[in-house]
Amino acid sequence: MSTLISEARVGKPVAVTSSYIAGEWVAPGGESHAIVNPANGETLAILPYAGAADVDRAAQAAHAAWLRWREVPVVDRVQPLYRFKALLEKNVRELGTILTRENGKTLEDAMTEVKRAAQMVEVACGMPSLMMGDSLNDVAKGIDCRTVRQPIGVCAGITPFNFPGMVPLWMYPFAIAAGNTFILKPSERVPMTPTRVVELLLEAGLPAGVIQLVHGGREVVEALLAHPLIRAISFVGSSPVAKIVYKEAAAHGKRVQALGGAKNHLVVMPDADLPQTVDAILGSAFGAAGQRCLAGSVLVPVGEVAEPLLELLVKKAQALRVGDGLESGVAVGPLVGADQKKRVLGYIEKGIAEGAEPILDGRNISAGPAGAFVGPTVLDHVERTASVAREEIFGPVLSVVRARTLDDAIAVVNSSEFGNNTTIYTKSGKAAREYESRVEVGMVGVNMTVAAPMAFFPFAGWKNSFFGDLHAHGKDAVAFYTDQKVLMTRWF
Ligand code: NAD
Repeated sequence: MSTLISEARVGKPVAVTSSYIAGEWVAPGGESHAIVNPANGETLAILPYAGAADVDRAAQAAHAAWLRWREVPVVDRVQPLYRFKALLEKNVRELGTILTRENGKTLEDAMTEVKRAAQMVEVACGMPSLMMGDSLNDVAKGIDCRTVRQPIGVCAGITPFNFPGMVPLWMYPFAIAAGNTFILKPSERVPMTPTRVVELLLEAGLPAGVIQLVHGGREVVEALLAHPLIRAISFVGSSPVAKIVYKEAAAHGKRVQALGGAKNHLVVMPDADLPQTVDAILGSAFGAAGQRCLAGSVLVPVGEVAEPLLELLVKKAQALRVGDGLESGVAVGPLVGADQKKRVLGYIEKGIAEGAEPILDGRNISAGPAGAFVGPTVLDHVERTASVAREEIFGPVLSVVRARTLDDAIAVVNSSEFGNNTTIYTKSGKAAREYESRVEVGMVGVNMTVAAPMAFFPFAGWKNSFFGDLHAHGKDAVAFYTDQKVLMTRWF
């Protein structure tokens, strides 16, 4: 087992985060990279990168395991997953602490993430019902027809840094329960949480070979996309990479779902309940330091609501405590690293240069000298064409684009190249209904903080936020990780 990760937990200065390939914990021979706590610069672990040869070993082992795993009845396949769910719940604080230390989000947020991950497993445990087919007798005289769903083989997942506890579980519980085997390549920035979660999956009794964990960067991804034994690729990350993954995986004849980045709009109507709306906006825009693909990033106040809304918003945002996510009372943790901080500061500067007015400026927040901290920032009077109105910043920066009417607000939302998530705040059912119907966005909230679909619904981004047909989790995951077969029978 990966005792090396356990060493990291007890605080030894340099532990090694292992890969799990062909039933063994191994340290691949590629370059090693330091995993750094973004709150204080402390080195948490060393991550040796795998290469194409390691991917090949993982794919061969996963394929051999698949030939056995697909024969295991689905009711038996889900038994380790029941135990896995219980282990996730039992270890929620430990997992949350690892997650906070490597990613930066607050401990409460991290533990919520682990609980949402457990819900994915819970839904995947319903696979005996979920993968049932259809049947109809006498489709012609004496001929019966039915469909069955069968596993497709070796599947692989490539995941981002912002939800290391949850996003891998959008994938492998569904894939495994459906009878596939799975290779996970987590974000190289936050490898410790997914490694500990795989340890728990093995502790739950999953047979060796059904899961493989291959750490690394681009070389591993490229090897996965090209490997002939891998049938399907699930990707979650930024849009430019999602697009590359979608094209490459398809060019190699693979089924692919590639979830990309976002630029989410929060539309506030003049009749909105202001205190509740402001609380929701704070959670959406500044929770997880804005590093959620569902985070509100553009605030669109409609008409005269702008002034009172912004006054209350800035007052409350100023009061949010920025600091190490392990400390109680902290609402906004650090960004994932110094490079991300630099990128976010660059966007704030660019926004101001393009004419925005910083009515709350988080650039010089004093939350710890070695941490990647940026405080909540609100940029008012942002032009619709400005980079901070159009591009994904992925930090605690809210750009305010004022609209005259609901029609005007919808035009702002629909002009975006992204279509992941949006929320309207209003007391009017008519306005909400019209908004839900007309916005070109896949996940729409009314008066929500973050309209994140639960595990039994799909995660349904549109436009440049998603490349593919079948989305993550829910019934889409069952369809994605299975092939349908149509059986027709006539007895003489
Ligand atoms: P990223 O695209 O940089 O990395 C994602 C994964 O792709 C990582 O495992 C990384 O190793 C790999 N990768 C990076 N560059 C690559 C390349 N050139 N070729 C091959 N593989 C490459 O994303 P990130 O910074 O880790 O995560 C943040 C992004 O993820 C944001 O854009 C966010 O909106 C998005 N995201 C989207 C969703 C969603 O559901 N749509 C959910 C979470 C995060």
